[in-house]
Amino acid sequence: ALQCGIVGLPNVGKSTLFNCLSNAKAQSANFPFCTIEPNVGVITVPDERLIQLEKLVKPQKVTPTTIEIVDIAGLVKGASKGEGLGNKFLANIRETDAIIHVLRCFDDDNVTHVDGSVDPVRDKEIIDLELQLKDLETINNRIGKTEKLAKSSKNPEDKRLLEVLIKYKEALESGKSARTVPLTDQEEKVAKSLFLLTNKPVLYVCNVDEGSVTTENQYVQAVKQAVKDENAQVLVIAAQTEAEIAELETYEERQMFLEDLGLKESGVAKLIKSAYKLLNLNTFFTAGEKEVRAWTFPAGALAPQAAGIIHSDFEKGFIRAEVIKYEDFIALGSEQACKEAGKIHIEGKEYEVQDGDIMHFRFNV
Ligand code: GDP
Repeated sequence: ALQCGIVGLPNVGKSTLFNCLSNAKAQSANFPFCTIEPNVGVITVPDERLIQLEKLVKPQKVTPTTIEIVDIAGLVKGASKGEGLGNKFLANIRETDAIIHVLRCFDDDNVTHVDGSVDPVRDKEIIDLELQLKDLETINNRIGKTEKLAKSSKNPEDKRLLEVLIKYKEALESGKSARTVPLTDQEEKVAKSLFLLTNKPVLYVCNVDEGSVTTENQYVQAVKQAVKDENAQVLVIAAQTEAEIAELETYEERQMFLEDLGLKESGVAKLIKSAYKLLNLNTFFTAGEKEVRAWTFPAGALAPQAAGIIHSDFEKGFIRAEVIKYEDFIALGSEQACKEAGKIHIEGKEYEVQDGDIMHFRFNV
């Protein structure tokens, strides 16, 4: 499963956020959360469309799609040099597909800050620097070998790799992350094989006090200003408050509390949706009387690959896909009605599956 890692300095609110995400009460009965390891949670992705489909199809079962969230605690200054179990944490980050970077944007004299004052931009730079130093180490290790190879090799990929390595080295040495380096599609391909930490997509979470959720405080403004060239999303969440809300018994109570804060949905729900987008994931549905289900696929997947997500046999024996657009299904109310209206599209192997498609695969066994 695809994984998002939560990173940030100690005491910024990572565990508080992770606990909100993993609080079973905050999820409805159909949306269970389960903990695989103490710091790894499987989280269902909230999707309004699933609720609408359930109303129309009335299936025996509804299955949402999930992503994994890992709380990567303990990243501190000096981690790239192995301080404070640094290498272990960096190895954990390498295994994730995207990063949720939590920044402390609240004042509270009772919560000590490792660097003595609240300054989310400095905090972000501390973490970035550790990740950049680690990447630089990776790059420097590869450059020597690749130079030799590129000289004698006839494979153009080797030369291309060397060029990419040099671009990255320059960026990292000037304090920039790998994700800020513009690359051609061909270069992207070779770059992927490097698994750089600072090349992973990132989402910033400003952890604010209750009063600053809807009005940006000075810390949030400073963060937004600092990351404006990174093409990264910034979410504002009051983790502590959300943790308290998650403790409330009923959905209605939680909703009321949120509305009091001026919010329509919880920051946690927003976070999960954003993480899903960050991973470049889309959802298709299968809708039968037994089960209405959401399936995750990477943006750009063709119909056979999407079929393979349900079962490898579906991919091997793929014949065609019958596709109903979500909007058509909702407007017409049933598969039968869509059929009569000519709204079931027959698609072949080259069809690029779209977010929201309701799929029925035909295959040979
Ligand atoms: P971590 O080390 O990043 O995992 O941080 P924790 O989640 O353990 O939080 C550190 C401390 O800050 C805890 O005592 C939390 O209760 C507190 N805390 C977390 N979020 C907030 C917040 O939004 N406002 C305030 N005032 N305290 C918070």
